[in-house]
Amino acid sequence: MDLTNAIQNHVRAIRAICTPPCRHEGELPIDRFPTTMAVRDVGLYLRCTACGRKGPEMEPVWPLRSDAP
Ligand SMILES: [Zn+2]
Repeated sequence: MDLTNAIQNHVRAIRAICTPPCRHEGELPIDRFPTTMAVRDVGLYLRCTACGRKGPEMEPVWPLRSDAP
């Protein structure tokens, strides 16, 4: 899935999850990145703010069902 596809599915942020045992999580606004990037590839450009390791797992932050009209 690329960011364009995620945005079309009402995703507004992506979550970075550091690899175990750190598992530090952070959310980033999706519009910080080029829309042609794949969601997973965004992690290649990020570094964990807790342990400094590169390449966290990325996942779309799906909108809550209650946000739907
Ligand atoms: Zn970490």
